Amino acid sequence: MYFDDLTEYSYSQHHARPGLLNVGWLDVEHDFPTRVPSREFVESLWHFREWRIAMMRGYHSCESCDPESDDITIARFHGEEVRLGFAEIRVFSQTGEAFAAPDLIFHYVAVHHYAPPAQFVDAIVKGPKPGSAEYELLLDKFWKTKTDSTVEEVVEQARSGEPRNSVIWALQGLWWIPLTQRVIPAGHGRRA
Ligand SMILES: [Zn+2]
Repeated sequence: MYFDDLTEYSYSQHHARPGLLNVGWLDVEHDFPTRVPSREFVESLWHFREWRIAMMRGYHSCESCDPESDDITIARFHGEEVRLGFAEIRVFSQTGEAFAAPDLIFHYVAVHHYAPPAQFVDAIVKGPKPGSAEYELLLDKFWKTKTDSTVEEVVEQARSGEPRNSVIWALQGLWWIPLTQRVIPAGHGRRA
């Protein structure tokens, strides 16, 4: 599935929010900009693997490696192996932007030296990190707002102050499971 960088995200209607921007939706038909990534960028990007959302039943493999191959793309880093092509990540900038990228973006950057837009790289390196309270809150709000809520509204809600550790999300299997006893309003806690 190809989308131009920084166009509005529309891949999954359930996860779309007005103002959410695409990054890294590459395919073999379209050239992409390249640059050797900084170590800092790759290290920071790697952290997002544990916070994947929008899981798909099927998977997508890297077309740049071999357009004909259906092999699952595997990322290897720090002695760890992670299967990619099943899900997406969300990235938040310090200035209120939000980006939607396929989890394959780690492979695209590390292996093919895909150069995402500067504001995305900035958000990965300097923005809220997965596992931080700020990131949790943003992702939590993103999950629970309606699909017609704009990114600005989602970010505003997250910043308007909900107590820390109200909810901790962990990825278990294919679902996000709330670890605390917090009750998720009907229709807002799970993906359709
Ligand atoms: Zn590849």
